Amino acid sequence: MGSKSLLKVARSAELLRAVWNSKETNRDSMDVTLSDLVASAPGPKQQEVLVELVRPGLVVIQPTPFCNIDCSYCYLNNRSDTSRMSSSTLRAVARFLLGVPIGEKPLSIVWHAGEPMVVPVTFYEEAFRSFAPGDGSSPFRHHFQTNGTLIDDSWCSLFKKWSVCVGVSIDGPKQLHDKYRVDRFGRGTFDRVMKGIDALRAHGLRFSVLTVITRETLDMADELWEFFKDLGASHVGFNVEENEGAHRHSSLASGEFSAKLRRFFARMAELHQKNPNIRVRELEDMRRHLTAPCGSVVTRSNNRPGAILNIDSHGNFTTFSPELLGLDDSRYGRFTWGNVHHNDWSSLARHRGFLKAHAEISAGIELCRRSCQYFAVCGGGNPSNKLAECGTFVSTETLYCQLHVQAVADAVMEQMEREMAAPTASLQVASGT
Ligand code: SF4
Repeated sequence: MGSKSLLKVARSAELLRAVWNSKETNRDSMDVTLSDLVASAPGPKQQEVLVELVRPGLVVIQPTPFCNIDCSYCYLNNRSDTSRMSSSTLRAVARFLLGVPIGEKPLSIVWHAGEPMVVPVTFYEEAFRSFAPGDGSSPFRHHFQTNGTLIDDSWCSLFKKWSVCVGVSIDGPKQLHDKYRVDRFGRGTFDRVMKGIDALRAHGLRFSVLTVITRETLDMADELWEFFKDLGASHVGFNVEENEGAHRHSSLASGEFSAKLRRFFARMAELHQKNPNIRVRELEDMRRHLTAPCGSVVTRSNNRPGAILNIDSHGNFTTFSPELLGLDDSRYGRFTWGNVHHNDWSSLARHRGFLKAHAEISAGIELCRRSCQYFAVCGGGNPSNKLAECGTFVSTETLYCQLHVQAVADAVMEQMEREMAAPTASLQVASGT
């Protein structure tokens, strides 16, 4: 069996890691057989059952559930609710966060779960001041994930003053973007987003881009890449149109789209290789996972207890996937396991709702570990997708896995296989069969 066909057989992430790591450490002479690889791949690792809270690495704060636009794939149930966080809740959030054990400083705070810029600039001036201790050395870094339609000079001044990281949601060229990202009158929002991006550029502010992949995106990888280049984005992240929350019917919900997604990401990987100046979150993360030491398992912050803290506009808090915030589920009840006015961070671990969710999320991760060949590079999935698609956390594969995790893993593995099999590579793989 030649190297190419052997590499095709070695489809699981762990086997590919074994090949890759062997190539990296032993370039000059190598004689690897498939049975060697199978024998050297470590057996399933005992999943550690986490009963203690992980130190938070991310905080998502909802200044308001309201959004000024109305994307047709939006998962937010309460996006017409115009309530906003009060000053007293803001101060309580600040007190609460100063009592949280921070892992790595600065701790990232993302203002999201509604459109963060429908509340005024003065709200954030007050927020950022109350989150900074007197000596001016803030333990937090602020991020906005915004639809971009409201960015103007006054927002840019705020971003500059407080070194805010800005992520703009835009789905590509106008015809792609305006199909789904519409306002409350059904009108496309592309021109307004571009005006906001022009303001960022005029102020010399860097920004990242978040793009939702829909059915129409799949044949437009090249156009999309050109668009990102012209836009001047430093980082690009992709989400897929999911069945989640208020959105139950993804345009990608049919078997044919997994293969199309894989081709889309494969093309993105080629384009990225030619022009690595634009960083692509999915490709970089997956390559890092695939080249990690054999036996390592990706940990996913949205299924680890405490790793992400989500705080709503009333001060209620929860952990795990931010998309759970505000949900009221027949099996798990409301995903609010404390309130910043009355509880501290550690009380989370004693809440019955949290304990039930944690036990079932852990059981779902264990099922994934036993059944899925992508587990090592996935870490057992996003609880909010499992709940939305399967009705329980004790579940495994979802549409989201197929379209996002598995399609990206396949595309990146193919790229790595090509790199290893290239004639110039010194890797020589001999078959033992
Ligand atoms: S969530 Fe999906 S891709 Fe991830 S390990 Fe579970 S089944 Fe596999």
